[in-house]
Amino acid sequence: MTRASGRFESFPLRARVAVRTAWVLNAVSRRLGRGEGTVVGGSVALMIDGNLLRELTADREVALVSGTNGKTTTTKLLVAALQRGSSVPVVTNSTGSNMPAGHLGALIDADSGAPAVLEVDEGYLKEVLDASRAKVVVLLNLSRDQLDRTNEVRMMAERWRQALRSAARRDGSGETSVVVANADDPLVVYAAEGSANVVWVAGGQRWRADSTGCPKCGGRVVYNETPEVTGDSFDPPWACACGFVSPEPEAWIVEDTTSRGASVVFKGGQELKMELLLPGRFNYSNAMMALLGARVFGVSPSSAASAMAEIGEVAGRYSTRVIGGVSTRCLLAKNPAGWTELLELVSGAGGPIVIGINAKVADGQDPSWLWDVEFESLKGRTVVATGERCWDLAVRLRYAGVDHQVCPDPVEALRAGRELELRRDACVEFIGNYTVFHDVVADSGGSNC
Ligand SMILES: [Zn+2]
Repeated sequence: MTRASGRFESFPLRARVAVRTAWVLNAVSRRLGRGEGTVVGGSVALMIDGNLLRELTADREVALVSGTNGKTTTTKLLVAALQRGSSVPVVTNSTGSNMPAGHLGALIDADSGAPAVLEVDEGYLKEVLDASRAKVVVLLNLSRDQLDRTNEVRMMAERWRQALRSAARRDGSGETSVVVANADDPLVVYAAEGSANVVWVAGGQRWRADSTGCPKCGGRVVYNETPEVTGDSFDPPWACACGFVSPEPEAWIVEDTTSRGASVVFKGGQELKMELLLPGRFNYSNAMMALLGARVFGVSPSSAASAMAEIGEVAGRYSTRVIGGVSTRCLLAKNPAGWTELLELVSGAGGPIVIGINAKVADGQDPSWLWDVEFESLKGRTVVATGERCWDLAVRLRYAGVDHQVCPDPVEALRAGRELELRRDACVEFIGNYTVFHDVVADSGGSNC
């Protein structure tokens, strides 16, 4: 409390009361063992002073990361990259709360002047951008998610578009935020195209079911499956007859087929090799977006890449742990786009696959999205369905023609997966949505194997 308290003396009285109240509540929360205790303090502080986020970001440079998938990972990668250029610890909402209360919780304990990287729930981008007047906004993708909670995805794109159009930095110079945006996602392009300062990046988009209709005219977006991105003239990967077309990216990923890793290729021909511990092409795209964000803060791409290469897991995701005696790789997928990426990721590995679904508030209580996921790709694999909604999953797998077993308890399901596999030493791939994933990781006692 003493480390940072001095810098709040210049705040208005209401803000000082809000900060001190948050400190007390967070300290009590920690003492009672209720987690890291940053959200409860942030929530009450926000009730006392609705402008507190503006006060707490006034003396620092801020990067925001938003999108349906990949924002926690990209936030962590960007923090690692910015830490290379910062003498004080970079501030971030690493406890996973990506709404303003979580942002406040992180900021009230931060060093004065330290840069901040905030993961932002898609629905709060305008509010947080208005308050923080961020130096950089990284926009990853938009797709259907939590059908009972979030708006229709096109409405979200429209809200982003309005937020970005009105965004301007606080210094009064008229300089606007730099938006690092995924040119491969038509909804992100629609949201970002009105911004004054956009860095387009080919961030990839395997899931297209939410962007086959043009956000401008309602016509059909046509995808070009084999665009030439390396030639002199740009060959757009998608376009609509109305003229809405993929902008030319400044950087894209080329996978290395002969060794580990991938390269970021910059327009003009410069290449940068990356070797991440994190698996999957989508994580190379996340890293490229973080790299372009870090560049705005003055961190060189090579320095950012070497910092990001050291990240091996993100809040338990991608880690391999011994759970119930079973060596398990833990993967989190929350919506059809995320499942599509992870089913592709595990398609290359030969071990058993345990898939788990809950439908609690944090997961979204409507699991009908299961029918949008191509579980057909699991045919021929050893599959166990688990979680509170394992029977919904079982029906979906049956229609997909995937032989499977059902085991409601996740840890028992991991053991069943191992027993079903002839290769008993094989690592079990576990893919779960939000709460079942956290239940499973909690059972590992936090230990990596
Ligand atoms: Zn159109």
